[in-house]
Amino acid sequence: MKGQSKRLGSPMITLIGALIIGFTSLAGCETVSARDTSIPTAVELQRVVDDAHAKFKDLKDGKNADYIPILATIPSELFGVAIVTNDGRVYTAGDSDYAFAIESVSKPFNLAMVMQEQGPEAVREKIGVEPTGLPFNSKLAIELLKTRSVNPLVNAGAIAQVSMVKAKDEDERWAKVQGNLSAFAGVKELPLSDETFKSEYESAWSNRAIANLLYNYGRLYSDPEEAMRVYTKQCSLLITTEELGLMGATLSNGGVNPKTGKRLLNEEHVPELLSLMLTAGFYDESGQWSYTAGLPSKTGVGGGIVSVVPGEMAIAAFSPRLNEAGNSVRAQKAINYIAEQLQLNIFDGR
Ligand code: GLN
Repeated sequence: MKGQSKRLGSPMITLIGALIIGFTSLAGCETVSARDTSIPTAVELQRVVDDAHAKFKDLKDGKNADYIPILATIPSELFGVAIVTNDGRVYTAGDSDYAFAIESVSKPFNLAMVMQEQGPEAVREKIGVEPTGLPFNSKLAIELLKTRSVNPLVNAGAIAQVSMVKAKDEDERWAKVQGNLSAFAGVKELPLSDETFKSEYESAWSNRAIANLLYNYGRLYSDPEEAMRVYTKQCSLLITTEELGLMGATLSNGGVNPKTGKRLLNEEHVPELLSLMLTAGFYDESGQWSYTAGLPSKTGVGGGIVSVVPGEMAIAAFSPRLNEAGNSVRAQKAINYIAEQLQLNIFDGR
């Protein structure tokens, strides 16, 4: 990972930083040890989270999703930011304990369970791993591309994932999906928002079309309505920004949840999952995002985004107002700011 000189900037800044650290230690304030590891200090992490929140707090661009009616009613001003490190330290700012609908941020984590159960080859064969370059709810992608379901992180592939979960009936399928996502979040049970589920399920004609199309092409592996219903429940689970950070930190930590110590994905499958997040986590803006932040990430129309810094930490943010592609405006700006400040781009080998 990155060396300390890179993160701290110029030698002059390093010198000033050392003087400040020395002074605060002498004054009996929090002792910050010399930077002998590549992990930024607690003070630096809290500061960058606070700064990211302060910098974009007043930004009003974008608007709440409204094709799922209930999402239009979520207060647009909410804004939370969190960093969770691989050793389980948590740094938050703003509304980081507000529970919002996880929506598509759930997709890579459910995929982790399918990979764990059936291996990455089953995912490649039965769903596909190419980015569509099209919006997340595209039916055209299913018609155009030979693998039909195409990618696990768009709606078609995510509904296909749910249909792949080994279960004797719908109750067991749902229990496995909810149990796994809760384990990633480090809680006993993530709550299902019945209101969100009802609002989304009753208006899910597009996803119903997707499920039926896939079934028609032999690319859905359970009853289509059952897969669609469980997928919609999955999207209607409530999560806080801080919990989302822990979900991401389970991936940065090689598949082991830093809080519970539970292994949820074998270490050798983590790169496969992260590669999908890098190439398709932002839907048809994935290229832009990779070009800018250089971090495997996943967004959701509830306003949540999580980014993974392999071997180090996860950054999560939540803000309901979205851009045209369905990605949260303030959440992506906050994460990008943090990634820049801490020089976290995974392609930056300096
Ligand atoms: N549940 C939403 C849907 O199926 C999730 C989409 C998203 O978050 N991008 O449309």
